[in-house]
Amino acid sequence: AGGRAAITTSGETVCPFCSVGCRVTLHQADDRIIWAEGADGPANHGRLCVKGRFGFTYLRHADRLTMPLIRRPGVPRDTGAGLRGPQVMDLFRPASWDEALDAAAKGFRRVRARHGGAALAVLGSAKGSNEDAYLLQKLARAGFGTPHIDHCTRLCASVPPLAEATGLAAVTAPIEEIANADVVLMVGSNPDMNHPVAASFMKGALRSGTRLILVDPHGQSLSRFATHHFRIAPGTDVALLSAMTRFVIEEGLYDRVFVAERVEGFEALRRRVAPFTPEVAAHICGVKSEEIRTAARLFAGAHAAMTFWGMGASQHAFGADNIRAAIAFALVCGQVGRPGAGLHPLRGQNNVQGSCDAGLLPNYLPGYRDLDDAAECAVFEHLWGGRMSLSQGLSVVEMFDAARLGVVHGLYVVGGNPALANPDLAATRAALVGLDHLVVQDIFPTETVAYADVVLPAAALAEREGTVTNTDRIVQRITPALPPPGAARPDWMIIRDLAVRLGLPWEQVSVESIFEEMAGVVPTLKGFHWPLLAKAGHARYPLQGEGTSDSLFGDGFLRGERALIAPLDASGVDEAPDAEFPFILMTGRLREHWHTGSMTRRSPVLETLSPEPRAHLHPDDLVGLQLAAGDEVEVRTRRGAVHLPVRPDASIRPGVVWMAMSFFEAAANELTIGRLDPTTRVPEFKFCAAAVKRKN
Ligand code: SF4
Repeated sequence: AGGRAAITTSGETVCPFCSVGCRVTLHQADDRIIWAEGADGPANHGRLCVKGRFGFTYLRHADRLTMPLIRRPGVPRDTGAGLRGPQVMDLFRPASWDEALDAAAKGFRRVRARHGGAALAVLGSAKGSNEDAYLLQKLARAGFGTPHIDHCTRLCASVPPLAEATGLAAVTAPIEEIANADVVLMVGSNPDMNHPVAASFMKGALRSGTRLILVDPHGQSLSRFATHHFRIAPGTDVALLSAMTRFVIEEGLYDRVFVAERVEGFEALRRRVAPFTPEVAAHICGVKSEEIRTAARLFAGAHAAMTFWGMGASQHAFGADNIRAAIAFALVCGQVGRPGAGLHPLRGQNNVQGSCDAGLLPNYLPGYRDLDDAAECAVFEHLWGGRMSLSQGLSVVEMFDAARLGVVHGLYVVGGNPALANPDLAATRAALVGLDHLVVQDIFPTETVAYADVVLPAAALAEREGTVTNTDRIVQRITPALPPPGAARPDWMIIRDLAVRLGLPWEQVSVESIFEEMAGVVPTLKGFHWPLLAKAGHARYPLQGEGTSDSLFGDGFLRGERALIAPLDASGVDEAPDAEFPFILMTGRLREHWHTGSMTRRSPVLETLSPEPRAHLHPDDLVGLQLAAGDEVEVRTRRGAVHLPVRPDASIRPGVVWMAMSFFEAAANELTIGRLDPTTRVPEFKFCAAAVKRKN
């Protein structure tokens, strides 16, 4: 195109941001990426959102970590507090790979010798490949000898409620099945912000007549398509869904045959939802009882209906019950197992599905094999040998609690940024400062890197080989679109070299060998082989014959003949608003920025579109607080306070202050609460009491 530099190379990869898994072509001139365009991938068919199109500049950003680093002698760990980017570099001296890996391994061996393997914890990331995830959990369990392995899916988990219901910890129907649905129920999700390319396909279906029942306290761009938009009081999803379930049961609108033949737990559910008349739920949720009836009738009577949910449902201390309630309603109505009918959690990170499949979890072995089953454990003891720790481990937030209590002494962080992503950041900082040994592997000097003893520079996703799995169960092969900068290496290679220093015989480990081992133990990858992916580029699991519906469970479920409606019981919010803290703080994401912003905030285009944090408040609340747009406010909770400008936002429910999580300048997680869902161990990111006042 006119004015553009001549392209010297082009390479294809998968977008590193959300779980849609768009394929993208990066065009380069010399060593610069000059533009990105959507490739014809199985999930995006040429489409990209603003992050995919303009977020790539992080790859060649000057802040990239290009050499291993070791903390300078005498520099205390807490001097890193609040530092990021180039400020962090002064805390370290450059090192060779051998020196840095030796130092990393020596520290882990020291902790293990003094305190045992369980004093070590490993925090991975859903931004790596399947091979990175598999090898990292294997290193933790078979090398470190610790069960404490987790990753950022803990901050948005849908795995346990899905797995207990169907036996499959993945979507039963992919996004494109929406084209076969005449009704969609969407709970706690704003796909136009968080999964924009998926939203573009959804809008196509909605424009063609698919009707939408939206459950979201806030307004959003899909509201204009919604037949019903329940702007419920935050944290009342279970009441609404229970009332809809009760109504279809009481009115005989539910699918009696499906329930009789394919569901277990129905009678317990009937008793559980009995108190939730539409009137009771209307009062709890702040919606109209007649609309509850109408929407329930619409969903139950649909020829085919899909159920989506997102982090607005799952990121609660009662998130598992929100999801169970949505699944129960779908099952009672028989809306699973046909084209256009199914369950779909819109997952967060680009490889959250694959990382969970690979076993990067404290409560499952690879392939969701049962850690409490001796026969399942024996499979891995035989396969891996070595120093094994096959038991239930600590989740992300629990690891940091254990570090503060002096139970965990050494931590290996691969691709995560808990110093900005965890709830209650003051507690996370205290844990990081108190560690005996911290190794951080990343592509940028993040807030977490600032606390490290050893820093290992990683290649970005676009710079390496492997596979990733999107929210639709599509496993895509990736090859390097460009080389990593400086001495940066792929994560799996660094993990392998660290393992060798810990005495594991992994010298010959390769991407291909990791994939083949993983495919051999993950049941859903049955039939997958490296040559298959090398040839086809991608494949959806489970592998099925031509013409088979991608909406699974037409007969039977993975757990058996019947799906389980699990007991659900919303335990209620932990911190209700009161006179001192009268607002509800909810956190979330913007279309332009991704999680802690380490990649997207290094994009000039995305920074121009969304350059600073804002506290979003309903205009009526601004009037009540005598504030105008742009005024600086203090948002305070029982954990801390941040300062930022206010933005009037009529889509926000009155009484709520909404903040994006991506801005270190006013980190929303300084304010959030560390309470966990008892099932999923997901922290509460969507509800705590807050005060808002003009900054003094
Ligand atoms: Fe990337 Fe998701 Fe946007 Fe696709 S929709 S370009 S995967 S951020």
